[in-house]
Amino acid sequence: MADIFDVIIIGSGPGGYVTAIRAAQLGMSVAIVERELLGGICLNWGCIPTKALLKSGEVYEQLGHLADYGLKVEGASFDFDGIVKRSRKVSAQLNAGVTFLMKKHKVEVIEGTARLEKGQDSAKGAAPKVVVALKAGGSRTLTAKSVILATGARARTIPAVGLEPDGERVWTYREALVPRRAPKTLIVIGSGAIGIEFASFYKALRSDVTVIEALPRILPVEDEEVSKAAQKAFEKRGLKFRVPANVKKLSKTKSGVAVEIEAGGKAETLEAEVAIVAVGIVGNVEDMGLEALGVKIERTHIVTDAHGATGVPGLYAIGDVAGPPWLAHKASHEGVHCIEHIAGETPANLNAPIPGCTYSTPQIASVGLTEAQAKDQGIEARVGRFPFRVNGKAIASGETEGFVKTVFDARTGALIGAHMIGAEVTEMIQGYAIAMTLEATEIDLQSTVFPHPTLSEAMHEAVLDAYGKVLHI
Ligand code: NAD
Repeated sequence: MADIFDVIIIGSGPGGYVTAIRAAQLGMSVAIVERELLGGICLNWGCIPTKALLKSGEVYEQLGHLADYGLKVEGASFDFDGIVKRSRKVSAQLNAGVTFLMKKHKVEVIEGTARLEKGQDSAKGAAPKVVVALKAGGSRTLTAKSVILATGARARTIPAVGLEPDGERVWTYREALVPRRAPKTLIVIGSGAIGIEFASFYKALRSDVTVIEALPRILPVEDEEVSKAAQKAFEKRGLKFRVPANVKKLSKTKSGVAVEIEAGGKAETLEAEVAIVAVGIVGNVEDMGLEALGVKIERTHIVTDAHGATGVPGLYAIGDVAGPPWLAHKASHEGVHCIEHIAGETPANLNAPIPGCTYSTPQIASVGLTEAQAKDQGIEARVGRFPFRVNGKAIASGETEGFVKTVFDARTGALIGAHMIGAEVTEMIQGYAIAMTLEATEIDLQSTVFPHPTLSEAMHEAVLDAYGKVLHI
């Protein structure tokens, strides 16, 4: 096997493997190095298996509302092992899919852990060498014109207050995905996408769940109105919150954990069987020889220019390891941009807005600026809203919770943000993402025909509302 490639990609998550496919399409010889599983965290320990768990939870929770639909089922219950097994099977299927795609595109997959070293020609501007400690034993030294780091990120822990997972009673997303049992009582620390998705799943399986958030509102990256509506909707499902609350100490008890918090100047100790720590992530930058090469790292992330270049000749970084937003689709998009730039093509637009989705019940989705961010940027915002409770399809489906909110630049009419909470909004947000990528104004959106009856009509109405033309309210 040759050890010389046009490009070597380290890490095979949605950043790395998508970049490998695009590189192969561009006629490059490609190697991808992976220390664990093809598909990375997203496919094996993140986006995909959580969606499988959440689907099981949703179906089970819906059984509790069958009477609303004129239906009856008696004695519904769940098989927890079966739920987890299905989730693992879904990941395995997609992992096999990535293996197939690598073969199809003649990408050489090298199983092992990569380290970078200065090559003989580094002084002449050549990319660093890649030394792989092979899973099968031994090592292999590879060279390429370009090396792309796509090593991702992992859960942040805070050992100082005991937020250090032990896999038994204190979990990160890893353990939360493959538990032996559904805990009867659960504390989730952090109300970002990971915390809220697991809180939503375990609540659906009837766990008693309390979410602790340090900032003044849950899902703090979302528009304030959405955060508020989300908390209200989750409370209606029985989720409990301590917001804002500072975690002072997490300690183990005989049967679980105790979390000492301070909220509104008052101390409180919460107890549960298990705590899930979901307080953000840190980049995987260690043990790769980056410091010796002079790669700039800030707050656990590799600093790059707009094309992913690190400043070290021939070395690039994309995806989670290159900084926020830590989202699979951002990693893929950056990777494609990076490799097209390396190939001298006109690369994919990096300024395209990046939608964010949380797959809880109800779902939350957004793209662009919140109303507050628009104001902070000195933009005069023109805002529209439309609730699902008066949307025909939502009423027929019995899913009337939530609303759509649009934010326009009042001066130009450009759509600059959209925020949604409700059923299926993660599937609909792309409509607004396309509109924003095409720099649509209120006139384009008002002129667009939305099919009836659909939930998406609320997207149209939220645009009309911003301009005083709302029809169904
Ligand atoms: P996050 O940064 O989105 O959320 C962490 C939350 O924890 C924040 O709200 C923060 O204020 C809070 N927090 C921090 N320290 C705390 C403390 N000591 N006590 C209480 N609260 C504390 O991180 P995450 O949810 O762990 O997710 C990591 C990344 O992965 C995010 O960027 C997220 O967007 C991404 N992700 C996306 C999806 C999705 O798209 N559906 C799903 C999972 C993860």
